[in-house]
Amino acid sequence: MRLLEEYIEKYGVVKQGHVLKVDSFLNHQMEPRIYREMGRELTRLFADWKITKVLTIEASGIALAMMAAQQLDVPCLFAKKSRTKNIDGEVYATRVASYTHGDTNDVIVAKRFLSSDDRVLIIDDFLARGQALLGLIDLCRQAGAEVIGCGIAIEKGFQEGGALVRGLGVRVESLAIIDSMSEDGVVFRR
Ligand code: 5GP
Repeated sequence: MRLLEEYIEKYGVVKQGHVLKVDSFLNHQMEPRIYREMGRELTRLFADWKITKVLTIEASGIALAMMAAQQLDVPCLFAKKSRTKNIDGEVYATRVASYTHGDTNDVIVAKRFLSSDDRVLIIDDFLARGQALLGLIDLCRQAGAEVIGCGIAIEKGFQEGGALVRGLGVRVESLAIIDSMSEDGVVFRR
């Protein structure tokens, strides 16, 4: 998506550890214009797939997931990072290693919000090593829900996540794919 690439070129800052900071429009301060366009594009890509639910992980995926959910007119469900594990049987739980924080979180969704009737679009802001998507796919598998695909704002194509998730046969649509990045700038896949 050209507009997203322009924002990344203009406002993105490449940090150590292959981290792209986009906190002036995506991750901290959020620009309605770019969110609106991203939501519109993801909705267009998955419009024919009878999605019943959009699923993401807190916190940075929520805004984009909600934009898509609003346009698809389905609920937006976000998996919560939790200290309490699956003790009461009321939740599906999985573990997700955080790319940016370096720790591992138990991630849960309430069983009553995800079921085998659901056709799920998974959304996240970034795709790096694929751990967040694999965790969300695992939650869907536990619920018997069908994963229709994943919609990502920014995929770092030089990391293994994209190949990992696509290798499972899951459709992944990324609005911008970065092939390489350094202090000199960002190179997008065309
Ligand atoms: P993965 O699970 O694919 O390794 O990493 C994806 C998650 O880590 C996303 O939910 C995102 O919040 C975070 N993340 C990964 N790489 C970056 C990055 O370069 N910049 C930012 N801001 N977040 C990232």
